[in-house]
Amino acid sequence: MRKTLIAGNWKMNKTPSESIEFVTNLIKNIGNYNDREILICPPFTSLYPISDIIRNSSLLLGAQNVFYEEKGAFTGEISPLMLKDIGVEYVICGHSERRNIFGEIDEIINKKVKKVIQYKLKPILCIGEKLEERESNKTFDIIKKQLEKCLSDFEYIEQLTIAYEPVWAIGTGKNATPQQAQDVHRFIRKLIEQNYGQSASCIRILYGGSVKPENIDILMAEADIDGALVGGASLKIESFSRIVGFQRI
Ligand code: PEP
Repeated sequence: MRKTLIAGNWKMNKTPSESIEFVTNLIKNIGNYNDREILICPPFTSLYPISDIIRNSSLLLGAQNVFYEEKGAFTGEISPLMLKDIGVEYVICGHSERRNIFGEIDEIINKKVKKVIQYKLKPILCIGEKLEERESNKTFDIIKKQLEKCLSDFEYIEQLTIAYEPVWAIGTGKNATPQQAQDVHRFIRKLIEQNYGQSASCIRILYGGSVKPENIDILMAEADIDGALVGGASLKIESFSRIVGFQRI
């Protein structure tokens, strides 16, 4: 049985003091759930103060990125050891903004995913096609290629969460239809099954791309959608609480 995961990716938003205020209020507003995990992924500078605040709550903490070495001369980078030490549990790897703005390629993402596992953190691997790729019917080829490269020599499949995030749906207000998302999620699960067997049934596949209070319930009704990676709508208490409290229809 796969436990639902609703994750908020704050991107480069909220100062440490804004983050503290937000999370303090979020804890008061959010319901108690046994059937779902709730994860927040603030900027690096907010992780440490937030880790203290959420200690006795049901919220989990994730980072938006990581470097694939433990320490050394890598100016400006943050290592998995540093994240582990402050109570981070999940790490987003290969978000499309990292790929498209910062030039992260599948080979780098593969190193990150493997390093994250080595430190007993849980990677959330993001994959997804661009608009022109969808329009030229290349969605499934792109997904297959990204998965193969990002998971090359990767063994710990049960520890992995995948986020299907069509690039054309991120921050655009234009979400994939539940059917479009389900088709890709099913395809991803089949690919994992071919390579890793039955473990595919326990892997969580999240949908990300303009998830809002208005569309979360219909997305979560699909068989292979196990949760959501939420950007913009995770920045407001009201919208994030509603998404977390989705109802299966
Ligand atoms: C994201 O940041 O991963 C994302 C899906 O953003 P948004 O929900 O704003 O489209």
